[in-house]
Amino acid sequence: MTVTPEILPISTYFDIKQTSYGGRAVFANKEICKDTKVLVCDHPLSSFISYPFRKEVCCYCFHYNNGKTLKFKIPEAELWFCSQNCLMSFNNIQFVDILIDSFSKLSQRFQQCKKRLNSSNFDEQQLNLSDKTDDEIQDFIEANWKNINNIWIPSVSNHDTNSGTNIIHVKNKANKVNNQQQKNLSKCPLINEEEFTESRFITQLLFHMQICNENLHREVFTNLQSNELEMIKRFPPLLFSQIKIFQNLYIILPTELQKFLNTATFRQILGSEYANAFGIWELSDADQDSRELFGSGLYAEASFFNNSCQPNLVKTRNGHQMFFKVIKDIEAGEELCINYGNNTAMDISERQKYLFENWFFHCACTKCKTECLKL
Ligand SMILES: [Zn+2]
Ligand SMILES: [Zn+2]
Repeated sequence: MTVTPEILPISTYFDIKQTSYGGRAVFANKEICKDTKVLVCDHPLSSFISYPFRKEVCCYCFHYNNGKTLKFKIPEAELWFCSQNCLMSFNNIQFVDILIDSFSKLSQRFQQCKKRLNSSNFDEQQLNLSDKTDDEIQDFIEANWKNINNIWIPSVSNHDTNSGTNIIHVKNKANKVNNQQQKNLSKCPLINEEEFTESRFITQLLFHMQICNENLHREVFTNLQSNELEMIKRFPPLLFSQIKIFQNLYIILPTELQKFLNTATFRQILGSEYANAFGIWELSDADQDSRELFGSGLYAEASFFNNSCQPNLVKTRNGHQMFFKVIKDIEAGEELCINYGNNTAMDISERQKYLFENWFFHCACTKCKTECLKL
């Protein structure tokens, strides 16, 4: 096994290693006492609150107001907060004006789309790839993105996207989509609710990685596994949806962010999201089945833990923070695993089905292997 801790110095408690049985895994590098927090991720690299919850769940700390609309907001950017404190903390993020400007333009675009989506000019593109091999699907994906790079981008690139935008002066001004952008948008497909939400996720991720200059985040992000092929194989029209999102973002984003948006980065963002994002669940005493799922967050540093159906590590959310605590004494060299989706109580066939449908792998943890032998 190749040890790569120098590339990803994420925690003093563990190393990330390439395993011979496939993929990377996390191993304790010393003895760890029960209840030790081995990783604390202060905030996600990016997150989204799904559209129906956007006014009820704080976009900063993910606090849920029991279905009531939150009082603090940045209306033009469609951002809601649970308190003055969260609003202020958000506003204090360095260069946040770029993010607010981007979100405002996206909202403006989405409002336009909503009006036109109601009329009959919207066609959901259908695509069936069930008779195709993985290689053929991969070729199809590549060909579509090649078209975007070689034909579509040049067709809209002879414009100067908001030249002269001065980020210092953007604040408190209506961050309007300009005329040239408007013209280019007319060549763009419309986006729906989920695509709007996804666009914001991508925008926020680009912002954190490129503008906030969080080096470790970026390093970790480029090492994440992508589930692009698996997801498109499962939901073929997703490819067209991704392309729509890319086109809209490419035109709308302010120059400061747009210059970092290319098809390769975009695909890596979505592929990593599919493979690594954690659900943002309601924090309540209610049992798993009755809790609400508000959205999703990518905690890049926490993306290397494998699944075990008998995990030695649990993840807990505290506001926007996610921490990982060992639930038993750990020996040096032991693999640290979490459980993807609280499925430890299911029987083996249910568990395997759940993990394959959601995460595209067949679990070979100790518990599964043992139970498999008994079958
Ligand atoms: Zn809050
Ligand atoms: Zn298992």
